[in-house]
Amino acid sequence: MNGSAITLGSIGIGDDNINYATLMHEKGHYLQSLILGPLYIFVIGIPSIIHASVHYKKCKNKDYYHFWTEAWANRLRDKYLLETEQ
Ligand SMILES: [Zn+2]
Repeated sequence: MNGSAITLGSIGIGDDNINYATLMHEKGHYLQSLILGPLYIFVIGIPSIIHASVHYKKCKNKDYYHFWTEAWANRLRDKYLLETEQ
């Protein structure tokens, strides 16, 4: 699947720093790829890569997850991945 390859690509940015929170966030991106199918690369993949490349220089909001592709991934994570623990 192309979508999961993109998701794995964005994990690469985190390198060996992957912790549980990062892993769960990336699973949120994976859910996005399931929802969007081939559109994932255009709707999430490309905007995410552009945002990642400018965030620390351009964004006033220093929280990386302020960007909507990241915020959406976190919402999906909360809804579908964390609720099962309750
Ligand atoms: Zn940003």
